[in-house]
Amino acid sequence: MSDLHSLSLHQASSLLAGRQCSSEELVQALLKRIAAVDASVQAYVSLDAESALAQAREADRRRASGGSVDPLLGLPIAVKDVLNVDGQPCTCASRILEGYISPYDATCVARLRSRGAILLGRVNMDEFAMGSSTENSAFKVTRNPWKLDHVPGGSSGGSAAAVAADEALAALGTDTGGSIRQPAAFCGCVGLKPTYGRISRYGLTAFASSLDQVGPLTKTVQDASLLLRAMSGHDPMDSSSVDVPVPDYSLALRPDLKGMKLGLPKEYFVEGMDPQVESAVRAAVEQCRALGAEIVEVSLPHTRYAIAAYYVIATAEASANLARFDGVRYGKRVEGEDPIDMYGKTRAAGFGREVKRRIILGTYVLSSGYYDAYYLRAQKVRTLIRNDFLKAFETCDALLTPVAPTAAYRIGEKKDDPLQMYLGDIFTVTANLAGICGLSAPCGFTGGGLPIGLQILGPGFKEENILRVGHAYEQATEWRLKKPELKG
Ligand code: GLN
Repeated sequence: MSDLHSLSLHQASSLLAGRQCSSEELVQALLKRIAAVDASVQAYVSLDAESALAQAREADRRRASGGSVDPLLGLPIAVKDVLNVDGQPCTCASRILEGYISPYDATCVARLRSRGAILLGRVNMDEFAMGSSTENSAFKVTRNPWKLDHVPGGSSGGSAAAVAADEALAALGTDTGGSIRQPAAFCGCVGLKPTYGRISRYGLTAFASSLDQVGPLTKTVQDASLLLRAMSGHDPMDSSSVDVPVPDYSLALRPDLKGMKLGLPKEYFVEGMDPQVESAVRAAVEQCRALGAEIVEVSLPHTRYAIAAYYVIATAEASANLARFDGVRYGKRVEGEDPIDMYGKTRAAGFGREVKRRIILGTYVLSSGYYDAYYLRAQKVRTLIRNDFLKAFETCDALLTPVAPTAAYRIGEKKDDPLQMYLGDIFTVTANLAGICGLSAPCGFTGGGLPIGLQILGPGFKEENILRVGHAYEQATEWRLKKPELKG
């Protein structure tokens, strides 16, 4: 039982069901793994071992008392530090929330908790989910488990690194412009961004409310479908969560892709992309063809405007959402001569550089006189991007693309060049602007041994399409069996 930490959720669930291990043993194995490798990976920002073990013992008691047992009972899950878990810190990797303890569970967390999942600990991220490398955390830089001097991606870098390093069986992340899919690709795990409205945002600290979605980072597509189903569904606490039925996604998972039509958007295979990424993705496309899918070329002509539109809309919404951190209601407070002085001092000391940059940008694009030229125009571009997808999905069940133009890069390489960092989001921000769903699945490695991700985009509320493609592809290949070599 020495390698319980390396199991998938499904594997752990069947061991628990067969009484081959207890949940307490599972949590203990993970705590041991974290103690051994997290000094190098730096994925966790807070971990309460006693509380995790107490939750595990409670799950073991529930199982022993008989009755029907949920597949999630006793399974430990790491949570991105942007989601509220009752009684745990929630810092969003920001100094401004240092010391803040959540008084309630986010709906997605409450749903997992009610089914017996264990909320293991909190994992690192870019401050307020703004970034693509986790270097914007106020606390520490998480490392890519495949190469410790490389970034894990972001903003859910702690979630991806923890799963890849076997420090968690699965983790929750959030995706506003790629923050689940891109770190999953950089770390070689599976990442799912559900359709906007699929999972409640209640209890997710808002970055850009019209783009944010919660989703799982896992070792397999099957695990992603399990967590998606458990967290999905309408929530009266979030009026943007949609009241549509939640299918049993496991029924969509089949070994072939017969009868499916998959589109290749030509705008996603562009100059400047790392040739190793392009060839891995093209090989994955061939594999999907071999599994029975029909492959067709499609066009998403407004893709070139996506980065500009995203960084106008996301910063505008962020500037409004982050106004609440004022030294009065949450976390840090720096006293001043009067309330205005106190707000200024608190925010100057509490927010990091990237967050300040975005608040300033967002305030500017919303200011009178500029609103029409920037924000309104960006919203119109957003509609065009959405229409591109709607048209493509008239004929295709899903689209295949790279997740990012390159694999993970060296820590520090892009940190001082925000524009370069933003451009790396070109293939992921479109799905958030359009509100559709997307999956990232491992599809190979660079010559230097870094993972590469395949992105599978699907129509709104058709997660079953992308899970089916991801699962068939994953089962036909062996990428998931490779693990990073970490001492510990
Ligand atoms: N990298 C993008 C940004 O910095 C996306 C972040 C996210 O999805 N949270 O805004």
